[in-house]
Amino acid sequence: MEERPKAPPHVLIFPLPAQGHVNSMLKLAELLSLAGIHVTFLNTDHNHDRLLRYTNVLDRFARFPGFQFKTIPDGLPADHPRTGDHFMELFDTLNSVTIPIFRKMMFSGQLNSNSSRLPVSCIIADGIFSFPMDVGDELGIPVIHFRTISACSFWVYFRILDIIEAGELPIRGNEDMDRLISSVPGMETFLRCRDLPSFCRVSNLADPNLQLFMNKTRQSPRASALILNTFEELEEPVLSHIRTHCPQIYTIGPVHALLKFKLGSETTMLHSQSSTSLFEVDRSCMTWLDAQPFKSVIYVSFGSITTMTKDALMEFWHGLVNSKKRFLWAIRPDLVDGKGGNGHTPAELVEGTKERGYMVGWAPQEEVLAHPAVGGFVTHSGWNSTLESIVAGVPMICLPYFADQQVNSRFVSEVWKLGMDMKDVCDRVIVEKMMNDLMVEKEKEFLKSTVEMSRLARESVSEGGSSYSNLDRLIQDIRLMNVGAKC
Ligand code: UDP
Repeated sequence: MEERPKAPPHVLIFPLPAQGHVNSMLKLAELLSLAGIHVTFLNTDHNHDRLLRYTNVLDRFARFPGFQFKTIPDGLPADHPRTGDHFMELFDTLNSVTIPIFRKMMFSGQLNSNSSRLPVSCIIADGIFSFPMDVGDELGIPVIHFRTISACSFWVYFRILDIIEAGELPIRGNEDMDRLISSVPGMETFLRCRDLPSFCRVSNLADPNLQLFMNKTRQSPRASALILNTFEELEEPVLSHIRTHCPQIYTIGPVHALLKFKLGSETTMLHSQSSTSLFEVDRSCMTWLDAQPFKSVIYVSFGSITTMTKDALMEFWHGLVNSKKRFLWAIRPDLVDGKGGNGHTPAELVEGTKERGYMVGWAPQEEVLAHPAVGGFVTHSGWNSTLESIVAGVPMICLPYFADQQVNSRFVSEVWKLGMDMKDVCDRVIVEKMMNDLMVEKEKEFLKSTVEMSRLARESVSEGGSSYSNLDRLIQDIRLMNVGAKC
């Protein structure tokens, strides 16, 4: 009997609608498209509008006939803020609005490929979502979880229940935040109470955010496999713990560097990283950087979700200016949350910024970090930012805001020795001192470790490297999952 040709796989990718998640999952979409896999990328209407407004994403994907975007509502009004305290509201409307629509789309075939009519053969869902696994079970479609946070943060999230059972949570009044946490295997000697994910800083264990992150993370072993945006050489000890629960793991990070390597000489302006940006990139800072001396500039960015009070911002700004270092600050227009002092900006800040600083609303961050004038990075320790800094070999000062960032910053400072942790101690004196330590006093110390880690990251995404090979294995396994499917 004549064999009918096998249909190509059609992967549905569905990220949590936030910049860091869309960023890494869209890069994976491009990697899979390059391998000839059909991909549907499911964006929320809100994010899709922004992506179209601020990037060349349609041009970029036009060469892949098997690629398509589909959109779904996130349930919030278009002008509703999605940063700071408002971020978690997304989870309520995802539950009430988005999930029922997603189910309908899956069951009615609305997410089939427009060009080839191929049904979805595999779902790569954000690891914070468990509902795609319910749908996958009902429809017989394998679901792979892509957790966009670090392996170390994933492992801490995974162990929250054990931390509670060991009586190490909740946090009580007058808590010693430097108390070591003993119930996360592999981290007993350095993980302190203050390094736990921000959601753990509650006195009530029924807190919905704590429950959400704890319970969703525990669902990952239900997925067929787990993709992590990290590399073996960075997080091997933690990965070996995670593998006891999720044996099928593909570490394919840093995904942005892997994509860059795969695109090789094709990496032109068309493929610049702005293609995943949900904000308008201000490139004028690149010209400013061109005029600055080698490794003289501290780049400051707190990512897409962080908000600060006006008072905290002023305190930080004073430290920055008092350090007398040059700085480039990506300061989102909605960074300040409106609470705290009002009034004018002190003259010394205006003057110091004019002399040595430059501010933009949103920077082309990957390019900024790779610029020879940049010698340090003050970051909120979002995982994309951390990986981008590692690849660029730039030491960090960590000022974590929420979620996984508390854990990442501990690993950056204490385990990987790639910078310093400013969590819970950010006043102008500390800011000034840490800037000087990073750029002068401890410059050589950090240079050694950042150069070495950057080398390991680049090796992992090069031909034969761990992440490069793991992507090949993932692609092969996606094809195998599709083995039963016929045209
Ligand atoms: N980013 C950027 N320009 C900026 C600030 C951030 O391009 O001015 C990018 C950054 O390169 C990273 C992403 O936005 O890829 C932020 O992701 P991350 O996981 O670091 O933090 P989040 O925004 O999710 O808190």
